[in-house]
Amino acid sequence: MPGTSSAPRPDNPALIDRFGRVAADLRVSLTDRCNLRCTYCMPAEGLDWMPGGEMLDEDELGRLIRIAVETLGITNVRFTGGEPTLRKGIEKIIAATAALSPRPRISMTTNGIGLVRRAKSLVDAGLDRINVSLDTLRPERFQEITRRDRLSDVLDGLAAARDAGLTPVKVNAVLLPGINDDEAASLLRYCVDHGYHLRFIEQMPLDPQHGWKRTQMITAERILELLREEFELTESPSPRGAAPAERWLVDGGPAEVGVIASVTRPFCGDCDRTRLTADGALRSCLFSQSETDLRAPLRAGADDAEIAELWRATMWAKLAGHQINDAGFAQPLRPMSAIGG
Ligand code: SAM
Ligand code: SF4
Repeated sequence: MPGTSSAPRPDNPALIDRFGRVAADLRVSLTDRCNLRCTYCMPAEGLDWMPGGEMLDEDELGRLIRIAVETLGITNVRFTGGEPTLRKGIEKIIAATAALSPRPRISMTTNGIGLVRRAKSLVDAGLDRINVSLDTLRPERFQEITRRDRLSDVLDGLAAARDAGLTPVKVNAVLLPGINDDEAASLLRYCVDHGYHLRFIEQMPLDPQHGWKRTQMITAERILELLREEFELTESPSPRGAAPAERWLVDGGPAEVGVIASVTRPFCGDCDRTRLTADGALRSCLFSQSETDLRAPLRAGADDAEIAELWRATMWAKLAGHQINDAGFAQPLRPMSAIGG
């Protein structure tokens, strides 16, 4: 039976694991830096950023993504960070990814700042889809949460993404108790009115300050309760597959809202992700305690087959779940911004 034995890995080119899962979705962090300082993600002074020489350069990134797509069966590549739009040459990285065969679907998770200027060039490079993070619609609250006065840039960025054809634009929101949990319904109203797909994400223990408390997070159940004060929600009939969001039709549809309940309703059994950090560490899970360094072998001259084997072995060792709900859970050493959300 998959998952219970220490049986050797079968000869299979794909990124299979002992629990029968197949990773086809690659998350690539392009930088750990950011131009916001969301309180739940980073301290006001920022973090100790990765030195430039430790980061994969464009060629190294391009090579790893090529191996993932052409050899390991990756069909979706999502660029994230930190803030991916801060990465110089992001359009070139996207274009190189779009030139692969078979061409993967290419998406990006961003805070939206800079999309007014960049949305069209990102689409021209090959970007297919976008997720923009937005936790509040109130300028002073945006400043409180992100420590920057940039709400209008994000809202304009959302519109620019939609106008550039990145539809449906997805919006990610994290609710924080006593800070923005009174905005669940207004965020949904805004997104429905503008044709954006809103997904709420349960806050996870990935902050560098280690300030996450289970008793202080807004659960999926509470999010749905808050939304139902203003909307009628019915379960979406479309299949969820490996998607992390559970979806509900809003007032009978077609508009939908999603909830990503990573903590209270984990979906690890259907996870199809593999992650690469900006400094070339491979992670089988957001919460992995161990990583596989691909940068060192890459720089020491490893060939594609050796890199692919390291990748397969890392994914074969993927644990069944993230263990947030286990007594012995320990946060990973890297914070979310250095892993890639
Ligand atoms: N800077 C980009 C952005 O904000 O979209 C991409 C990286 S950010 C780490 C990706 C997503 O992770 C954002 O939607 C953010 O709100 C979310 N996030 C950050 N820390 C989180 C946490 N501890 N729990 C849940 N989501 C978190
Ligand atoms: Fe930056 Fe995204 Fe973290 Fe906010 S959530 S500080 S935008 S990386």
